[in-house]
Amino acid sequence: MRALIKAEEHRQAGVINLIASENYASREVREATGSVLTNKYSEGYPGRRYYAGNEVVDEVERLTQERALKLFKLNPKKWGVNVQALSGVPANFFVYSALVPPGEKMAGQALDQGGHLSHGSKVSLTSKFWRWAHYTVDRKTEILDYGKLTLQMKKEKPKLIVAGYSAYSRELDFKKFRKIADSCGAILMVDMAHFAGLVAGGVYPSPFPYADVVTTTTHKTLRGPRGALIFFKKEYEDAINKAVFPGGQGGPHDHQTAAIAVALHEATQPSFKKYAHQIVKNAKVLAGELKKKGWRIVSGGTDNHLFLLDVWDKGIAGKDAEKLLESAGIIVNRNGIPYDSRSPFNPSGIRIGTPAVTTRGVKEKEMARIAEWVSGILKNNLDPKKVKNEVSRFVKKFPCPK
Ligand SMILES: *Cc1c(COP(=O)(O)O)cnc(C)c1O
Repeated sequence: MRALIKAEEHRQAGVINLIASENYASREVREATGSVLTNKYSEGYPGRRYYAGNEVVDEVERLTQERALKLFKLNPKKWGVNVQALSGVPANFFVYSALVPPGEKMAGQALDQGGHLSHGSKVSLTSKFWRWAHYTVDRKTEILDYGKLTLQMKKEKPKLIVAGYSAYSRELDFKKFRKIADSCGAILMVDMAHFAGLVAGGVYPSPFPYADVVTTTTHKTLRGPRGALIFFKKEYEDAINKAVFPGGQGGPHDHQTAAIAVALHEATQPSFKKYAHQIVKNAKVLAGELKKKGWRIVSGGTDNHLFLLDVWDKGIAGKDAEKLLESAGIIVNRNGIPYDSRSPFNPSGIRIGTPAVTTRGVKEKEMARIAEWVSGILKNNLDPKKVKNEVSRFVKKFPCPK
């Protein structure tokens, strides 16, 4: 296994990683995940455990909670946070099960319109236990149409509305979501898994002034270990904590909790603010440069860390684009675009994101270079083998966190 881990380390260092949901965690974060905390059982919550020997783990979990609330400037009298959910999908599931009786209706952005599996997709367990109304982007602008959303929600009357996405490049108007939720008596949950780091860095609107519940992963723009956080207004605290444990999980992964605390600390530093701003600058430059070269960006551009490139617009299938770029050492994932005419397995687009390359220190100037490579390869103007050599030299100047 040591050899395989080394091989993966080598692979990660040797490519340009444009996967929008990935990042490089710091050594300190990785050390915490590899710590002796993995040895402990601590079912329950701080001060209320079902095992002895939890005096240190209690402090770990309390400190993580404190840091999570502090990072997002939340008043501990009004907001609480659960740090035990093992990942983003279970976190969402626990919130639904805590707040919405089975068989009732919820609403979320459709998966093929930028939403996430855990927002009621047909293949997700979330659609087995609840009914869903899915909202879409406008066919022409490829941006959410809040007027249409208002009418749809008034008609559907969901018990809970999820705002949040995995493949949407625009700001969300949380104030409007709040108004819509109020107009139909729904709870408003924001799933900020993708953009939590941008909120923390002050470069994307915060959902907290408007949401009742906010879930997030910790391993995307937040640059921590794999994991999740569930923030809730105090009135939902008991129900949500019970849904996590004993409802859906046993013992928490304390090593992961500790690593989340390390990442949260890192995210309060001024350098993280700069990092978050640079992520967005880089995404804007990359999208802009590709646009100049004739590529169609879904919705015309980006306000965050990602965008969708409509490669089928130039007659290239998403899967082929993904493969071609990989052969040149550039890693992306194929992705459906709104109202895609092709199948999800080989869709019309690719998703491009800048959190990982920005961690390595890549800035605007280099983004223009990456745009040239991406465009040249996809247009068959550049030899992927040659580019791969150039990429190998390029990435050496931008090392991964040690
Ligand atoms: C990534 C993501 C999740 C799921 O996270 P996992 O940690 O993979 O379970 C949930 N919601 C959204 C919007 C995401 O982008």
